[in-house]
Amino acid sequence: MNPTLDRLRTRLAQVVDLRRVNSLLFWDQQTMMPAAGAAARGEHRATLDRLAHELFVADETGRMLDELESYAETLDYDSDDASLIRVVRADYEKARRVPAELRAEMTRAASEGLRAWMGAKAESDFAAFLPALERNVELRRRYIDCFDGYDEPYDVLLDDYERGMKTAEVRAIFEEVKHALVPLIREAADRDADDDFLRGSFPVERQEAIGREVIEAFGFRPDSWRLDHTPHPFAGGAAIDDIRITTHYRERDLDSFFATMHEYGHGLYEHQVARELERTPLGSGVSLGVHESQSRMWENLVGRSLPFWRFFYGRLQAAFPEQLGDVELERFYRAVNRVHPSLIRIHADEVTYNLHIILRFELEQDIVNGRVELRDLAQVWGERMDEYLGLEVPDDARGVLQDMHWAGGQIGYFSTYSLGNVMSVQIWERVLEDVPDLVEGFERGEFAPLREWLGENLHRHGRKYRPQELLERAVGRTIDPAPYLRYLREKHGTGALTA
Ligand code: ZN
Repeated sequence: MNPTLDRLRTRLAQVVDLRRVNSLLFWDQQTMMPAAGAAARGEHRATLDRLAHELFVADETGRMLDELESYAETLDYDSDDASLIRVVRADYEKARRVPAELRAEMTRAASEGLRAWMGAKAESDFAAFLPALERNVELRRRYIDCFDGYDEPYDVLLDDYERGMKTAEVRAIFEEVKHALVPLIREAADRDADDDFLRGSFPVERQEAIGREVIEAFGFRPDSWRLDHTPHPFAGGAAIDDIRITTHYRERDLDSFFATMHEYGHGLYEHQVARELERTPLGSGVSLGVHESQSRMWENLVGRSLPFWRFFYGRLQAAFPEQLGDVELERFYRAVNRVHPSLIRIHADEVTYNLHIILRFELEQDIVNGRVELRDLAQVWGERMDEYLGLEVPDDARGVLQDMHWAGGQIGYFSTYSLGNVMSVQIWERVLEDVPDLVEGFERGEFAPLREWLGENLHRHGRKYRPQELLERAVGRTIDPAPYLRYLREKHGTGALTA
């Protein structure tokens, strides 16, 4: 073992520990903490964040990386050591470009932005949020100025969430998706949609029990996972054997069921990272897009498929006999796959969802490039919702204020949701080639073959490879929307969706 590498690993383990404890504090804040603890918690988290950052960007880290350069050249590219040195070098160089003072200002503006957004959303008043948004955007512009060598400014923001991906690539993918989806949505919307039985009264404690039952069938293990309740579902945790996922229950519908499966997919990714990578910066999912490909796979490709429901529908009916006792399987399956334009992204079906994302992706570029004035944003939002989904936006809360991302300064994030959708089907098709009886297994409640394929081909690598490099290794090519669009057409096009 190389002694410099030993020292570097020790330092990085401390950085990772501080970050993991910080994410646990975030989990606690969302699930357990009394509301009045928020101010103190903000200080705790800022301190941990600063300590981790300082330890990471210190000159000493750079000296160790320099010393390790010639050693790294002797190693196999795929080895854990070579990957660690390569990825940490890239992370380090990126982090060093941003002055500490700008970083602190962005953190502060994000927490103030979130506070302003919550108030503005409650009042449905975009004007009340505008100053905080202006501040966040101005700081993101200064952040972009810290970098050079990009094709367009938005590349810098995108790279934070999907390393190596260029705006132009995403634009080309989304153009193709948009052209395919507009007619598909029109066809699907013409079909009669009988899903009234999905709204009514679904007691929360029964939703919780049945949600737990489904993810336990998928592979949730009570000895190393937790499922809790938060207003906004998320997945996190502190270690490979300490996975925390959350969901959100509403008495009036069964959305929680799909949200729980979604977060299970995120949790499984983190749970199946190779143990050798734990306590290193390689020990987590590689990007938001690849992460989302995993959550969408369990939510949509498994959880909205007919074979899955052949296995599970009887249990769901038994949990909600008043609502579903008389609803046969095919009717239920069609209802949970209904395509119908709606105002709120997080409640959108799997087809129209992408147009919500494309709208935000385009608007973000308009903001960064100064083509849209921020004060006009609510109005422009309304015009584009009309253009893309034929909907009139009744108020700011159900329009431009619905998501928290921009309030927290996260510009460049949204596109990863649809990139994940696209990649999920590429991965799925590859799994089907390798495991031909995969979906027949679902009818018998067998999910281990899918779990194991994902662990072996994607999850265990953690952050060793760049996102597109990982995809290419797993499925044989980089991102391509054709399989996804084919899947959507087959499932939702004219004549489809018959059981
Ligand atoms: Zn997700």
